[in-house]
Amino acid sequence: MKKIAIIGAGISGLFFANLLNQNSEYDFTIFEKKISLNLDDGYGIQLSVNSIKLLNQIGFNEIDKNKIYNPKKIFFINAQDNKKICDFEISKFNYDKNQYTTLKRSTLLKFLLEKISKNKIKFSTNLKNISYGKKLTLHFDENYVEEFDYLIVSDGVFSNTKSIILKKDCKPKYFNSLALRANIVDYQSKGISLYFGSNFHFVIYPVSQNNEFNFISVIKKELLDINTYTDQDFLQSTAEELYKKTKIDLNGKLTNIKSFPVYVSDKIEISENKNIYFLGDALFALPPSFAQGASQSIESSKELYEQMENNGSNYYEKRTKRLNSINWRSRLNYFSFHLSNPVFSLFRNSILKFLVKNNNFLKNYLGKIYKD
Ligand SMILES: Cc1cc2nc3c(=O)[nH]c(=O)nc-3n(C[C@H](O)[C@H](O)[C@H](O)COP(=O)(O)OP(=O)(O)OC[C@H]3O[C@@H](n4cnc5c(N)ncnc54)[C@H](O)[C@@H]3O)c2cc1C
Repeated sequence: MKKIAIIGAGISGLFFANLLNQNSEYDFTIFEKKISLNLDDGYGIQLSVNSIKLLNQIGFNEIDKNKIYNPKKIFFINAQDNKKICDFEISKFNYDKNQYTTLKRSTLLKFLLEKISKNKIKFSTNLKNISYGKKLTLHFDENYVEEFDYLIVSDGVFSNTKSIILKKDCKPKYFNSLALRANIVDYQSKGISLYFGSNFHFVIYPVSQNNEFNFISVIKKELLDINTYTDQDFLQSTAEELYKKTKIDLNGKLTNIKSFPVYVSDKIEISENKNIYFLGDALFALPPSFAQGASQSIESSKELYEQMENNGSNYYEKRTKRLNSINWRSRLNYFSFHLSNPVFSLFRNSILKFLVKNNNFLKNYLGKIYKD
């Protein structure tokens, strides 16, 4: 029996736990810092076929279909005049039962929690230190100590566990942007609508079959005082600034508005200890402009699980290649979504109209990420 500690009950930690659940040789405990998981919020997440394929292997295809949406198209729209530039069929990458899916983050978390016994998750825990011997001895708050064979670090972009292991401050980098999240009412669309603006973009997509839509905007902005992000006046003024920059009438339609700074990883760092692994955002946090963070969290969990099963050793090598290829795409997306010079924007739109019809480009730029 191998004893495994998972730090962090986010998408990567929970998916990894679901994989361990399939083999009785593994005994795992998830240590989560929060007192509980937020299973009520209506914010959305996009999952491309690469991660849906892996989720289906643990029964995601049996989820209540009313709670998810399978968009067929992405519409590219100029935010300023609300005119469509072009569209393309995201569903062309679907195969078998693996379909591009949008849903509430809470729906995904509930699904991932379904097969994990409650006693496997310890909430309000905080790892303080690790001592290294034949086993890994984890020292938590309140003098709680336990020995494990493996330590899986999945505590997100600000991973404190990574700093403890690497014995240095592993701070992520501010991505010069804030994310404004909301739900949007009175909106109609059967696909993902991606609006380009000057130094911002926003995306609206359905998160269920019940006319529920997610709104997410990424806006270029310098880093602010941390308390500002939750300040109601700041949220209101940021939203109003955005309303003025687009012809689509957002005023009064956004609910549950929240904002937070966007952080990304600088480089991939690994632990020299063969029984300690970094997963998901703790390994590498991507810019949000390719919507691959959660999908990559799921992929990384699967790859690590397979390595443990097969006594392999290429987890980090494979991950590094994969993450690099997504990282540059995310940065290129961000750059082109946010162009502020009108001439460059016109040029981008013409290129985009051409590219969405070019199967070779689509296969290389998206297919490589979605299907590999
Ligand atoms: C604006 C924005 C939009 C996004 N949209 C998408 C999208 O549409 N599609 C997509 O694929 N991805 C998207 N992502 C990325 C995605 O949300 C993340 O990549 C994904 O949630 C990472 O999962 P994780 O489990 O690694 O980390 P997290 O989801 O951050 O989970 C980490 C968990 O660890 C816990 N924790 C933290 N510190 C400790 C500690 N010291 N001890 C114990 N527990 C701890 C946290 O409370 C949390 O529960 C988006 C990201 C942003 C910023």
